[in-house]
Amino acid sequence: MSLSPGSSEALYAEACRLMPGGVSSPVRAYRAVGGTPPFLVRGAGAQVWDVDGRAYLDYVGSWGPLIAGHAHPAVVRGVTETAARGSSFGAPTPLEVALARTIVASVPSIEMVRLVSSGTEAAMSALRVARAATGRRAIVKFDGCYHGHADALLVRAGSGVMTLDVAARSGGPWASGVPASAGVPPEVATLTFTLPFNDLDAAEGLFRQRGEEIAAVIVEPIPGNMGVVLPRPGFLEGICGLCERAGALVIFDEVITGFRVARGGAQALYGIRPQLTCLGKVIGGGFPVGAYGGRRDLMGQVAPLGPVYQAGTLSGNPVAMRAGLETLALLDDAAYRRLDELGGALADGLRDAARRAGTALVVNRAGSMLTPFFTAEPVVDAESARRADVARYARFFHALRERGILVPPSQFEAWFVSLAHTEEDLRRTCDAAAAALAA
Ligand SMILES: *Cc1c(COP(=O)(O)O)cnc(C)c1O
Repeated sequence: MSLSPGSSEALYAEACRLMPGGVSSPVRAYRAVGGTPPFLVRGAGAQVWDVDGRAYLDYVGSWGPLIAGHAHPAVVRGVTETAARGSSFGAPTPLEVALARTIVASVPSIEMVRLVSSGTEAAMSALRVARAATGRRAIVKFDGCYHGHADALLVRAGSGVMTLDVAARSGGPWASGVPASAGVPPEVATLTFTLPFNDLDAAEGLFRQRGEEIAAVIVEPIPGNMGVVLPRPGFLEGICGLCERAGALVIFDEVITGFRVARGGAQALYGIRPQLTCLGKVIGGGFPVGAYGGRRDLMGQVAPLGPVYQAGTLSGNPVAMRAGLETLALLDDAAYRRLDELGGALADGLRDAARRAGTALVVNRAGSMLTPFFTAEPVVDAESARRADVARYARFFHALRERGILVPPSQFEAWFVSLAHTEEDLRRTCDAAAAALAA
């Protein structure tokens, strides 16, 4: 098989004839910042290389999974060894038990877990369990939060949807029924209420009027898909209280934050126990893995134990399990301290560069995930995130890329620092940011 290299320009032209937008996932097409995306051929540690021979310091980290950096030797060794023994069986394997054991031991609220192949599947399936368990139909999500691309969740969604700016903007504070994508039946979307993040009053209003219809609230406890936004003290606890009183479930979508902000995710940081949790990204170590889990009685609803059907040909894939296990094995307390230090140094450096350049910049950060927003106002929800200057971000993005730094090609995404980044890498990045902002 020839893996013809060629240039990014030539590959992109061909890709655009063969694939919608030339990509397998929309944000990769650089529509928000313009230009041709680099076609990557290699990664090692904190660096990636494109087909044109350029090297970049990378803060995309495959959009979250690569907490150990690219091609970590332990991960490469593990997956090579596992693949050589057969890559898929469609039968139970010891490796999936090991990953399930690790997840249950690490994430406080998860007593039982089902492994799937993506975060989308995890969120979609957790909702199905919540609806089955409560016998209710409506769900609540927050404007700017992204939970994958299942129909019910493509309502005021973040990430690529927010980037492409197709998110519906009409309606009241908890309007429902406006899909953020063509092809989602309005009937499905009417069952999804949306609320502004960090606004407990709006949530109380909705629960007062419609609380008995609500099966579950799904939330990114620390949103990363409108850019990083931190929950106000008491907000998540308030949501949990409303749900408890109304007989609704709380689903934490920790696809980004799970094993990222702490081993036990955001729920361990805040000491909150949601009934269901979604995982993905880091738990696959760069391979396709998702998971949903929670209280034993709720997971007992899932087939073959219970009436909620959910299945997957490649679920629990041994190679992917091994990549996840090798990655999670690297994440001890010292690793999280280091990730937090590195994230803090990057955030400080970016703020400092902006101050010297006289540019208004707000940097939101949770450990090793952060977003610099080009705005003077605090960013606390999707509305304040949307007020950021996206044209200014696009110029910053390109100025960094010219200086060999690759960051997410959208204002509304998280930057990720990995264990492979060094203080020297961060200094280089902050110098590049200072030069980029001054230019
Ligand atoms: C990435 C993401 C998903 C979707 O995961 P995929 O593996 O892309 O399907 C869901 N929820 C959150 C919070 C995410 O960041």
